[in-house]
Amino acid sequence: MPILKCPYCDDEDIEISYNHKIRQYTLTCFNCDSFIKITKKQADLKCPGCESKNIVHDDCESYCCDCGMVLSATSNYVGGFKIVLDWGLIL
Ligand SMILES: [Zn+2]
Ligand SMILES: [Zn+2]
Repeated sequence: MPILKCPYCDDEDIEISYNHKIRQYTLTCFNCDSFIKITKKQADLKCPGCESKNIVHDDCESYCCDCGMVLSATSNYVGGFKIVLDWGLIL
């Protein structure tokens, strides 16, 4: 079952994404500030463009295999220098 609410505070103000840095799906709750690692099944990410679940995560971005839409990407490299972001994701 995909997670739709924060397991701690039951709030729906959450964000589910794939964190490339730790190579894990994560749930962030904006209500109680929880940051939880979840499984792929719990994340149940869908492409916002074509609803495909055929999402691929490589080292720097997540994209849909079917329509090519990029869901998230890290900007680890700027001008040849690697920068480390706390959250690692640009959405
Ligand atoms: Zn919460
Ligand atoms: Zn797609």
